[in-house]
Amino acid sequence: IENHLFSAIRAAIPAMDKPLARLIDGTVETYGDALALSARLANLLVARGVKPGDRVAVQVEKSWPALALYLATIRAGAVYLPLNTAYTLNEVEYFLSDAEPAVFVCRPEIEQDARALATRLGVGAVETLGNDGKGSLTDAAAAFPDTFEDVARGPEDLGGILYTSGTTGRAKGAMLTHANLLSNAQTLKDYWRFTADDVLLHALPIFHTHGLFVASNIILLAGASMEFRSKFDPKEAVALMSAGKVTTLMGVPTFYTRLLDQPGLTREVTKGMRLFISGSAPLLAETHRAFEERTGHAILERYGMTETGMNTSNPYNGARIAGTVGYPLPGISARVTDPETGAVLPTGEIGMIEVQGPNVFKGYWRMPEKTASEFRDGFFITGDLGKIDEKGYVHIVGRGKDLVITGGFNVYPKEVEGEIDAIPGVIESAVIGVPHPDFGEGVTAVIVAQKDATLTEDAVHRALENRLAKFKQPKRVLFVSELPRNTMGKVQKNILRDTYKDIYR
Ligand code: ATP
Ligand code: MG
Repeated sequence: IENHLFSAIRAAIPAMDKPLARLIDGTVETYGDALALSARLANLLVARGVKPGDRVAVQVEKSWPALALYLATIRAGAVYLPLNTAYTLNEVEYFLSDAEPAVFVCRPEIEQDARALATRLGVGAVETLGNDGKGSLTDAAAAFPDTFEDVARGPEDLGGILYTSGTTGRAKGAMLTHANLLSNAQTLKDYWRFTADDVLLHALPIFHTHGLFVASNIILLAGASMEFRSKFDPKEAVALMSAGKVTTLMGVPTFYTRLLDQPGLTREVTKGMRLFISGSAPLLAETHRAFEERTGHAILERYGMTETGMNTSNPYNGARIAGTVGYPLPGISARVTDPETGAVLPTGEIGMIEVQGPNVFKGYWRMPEKTASEFRDGFFITGDLGKIDEKGYVHIVGRGKDLVITGGFNVYPKEVEGEIDAIPGVIESAVIGVPHPDFGEGVTAVIVAQKDATLTEDAVHRALENRLAKFKQPKRVLFVSELPRNTMGKVQKNILRDTYKDIYR
């Protein structure tokens, strides 16, 4: 029987006794262990009433059984629906009522509330799984056989629903098919040259596309291994590299800034590393350069999103250019269009990035109109603004929703933020557009300054005077102690726009 995604994963198993994951306590979980545990869990899911196409909602800390639960859900022909552990019960209620899962696997700490919620919403079963990898889920699974006949699933059947990070508004459920997941993982495995010899330091969460579908699926399809950690510890990362225990790292940009803070990070220590990959948020060109200076490694930056998996990547061989996200991946096309008219723009012009390929999702869960409005002749409108240069590299300048239009001129926040961040005493900044009676929107800077800095609004205006065209200069500069971020660490500009919506009135 063919289960489009899992049959490929099964076929790639190098040997049953090959390590798949080494855990923090030294435990080694092999490919055989993964098959056995996911079989037990799949049997349990079926016993709890999960049928093909049913959703299995999971809000648990990262652990080995949590990863096996993902595989079990795919094997049972069901749809894996992971939720960020930072979501409150109130937020979980929205996701459960939207997705109507057959089973909800939660942390033991919230079991009582979860049961009450499940009863209210008609969720069939609740199981628990703790950060130690134990709970009613694993207890019950132990009584089931360690073999399972995978449920048949075709390429167009759903394998997962992942909610977007909710940076620009309420999170949307993206429906991902077996073909979406498998094609993207296979493409990336080849593009980034993953082989059975690789050991990935896997320290990303597995409720998000980066850690779940990119990292885990690539490793499985390569028959490779990973050091599997529930969080990223830069000190331990240096120790693992220095002991030659890992060959690759996938991280968000903060992994790299935190690594740079480690005095132990040197050329010598990273000489056994084959590849450093970054994504999920823009990697500052400055971080890219500093990392290369310290280690000799050019970080490979790529660009993707929940709805599409990965779209573009800097090359494996060839120049990895700081501040760009590289070329469209093989089989994926990208174009840049005029956000208003949809006309395809010439090389080098900034507009809306649109993508097409086997990686592009089937639509937003139960939002057919929203889905239809995000596609233009077969291309998905990403919502990100950028350009494609003469060499074919894609550059991202920010999100469409964050573009500021002031007096008829477009201002890209990223450019202004770059200038502000270079002012001594500034830690970080966010530039937003706020309703303005004369200009439509007023460019507005929100700054986090260093504690001991004596930065004033005036000083910032003066510092930018000769650096930026007049229309790009902020009309107001406000200081805050920190920027609002969502649970993925992304700055929520919609909250800032709301907070300051009346300052020009
Ligand atoms: P929501 O869609 O709910 O507002 P979100 O877009 O932040 O949330 P994700 O799907 O997790 O949710 O993030 C995808 C977005 O992350 C992309 O659209 C892009 O804006 C940003 N992103 C990802 N990789 C990069 C990168 N390398 N450089 C710049 N931005 C990136
Ligand atoms: Mg998005």
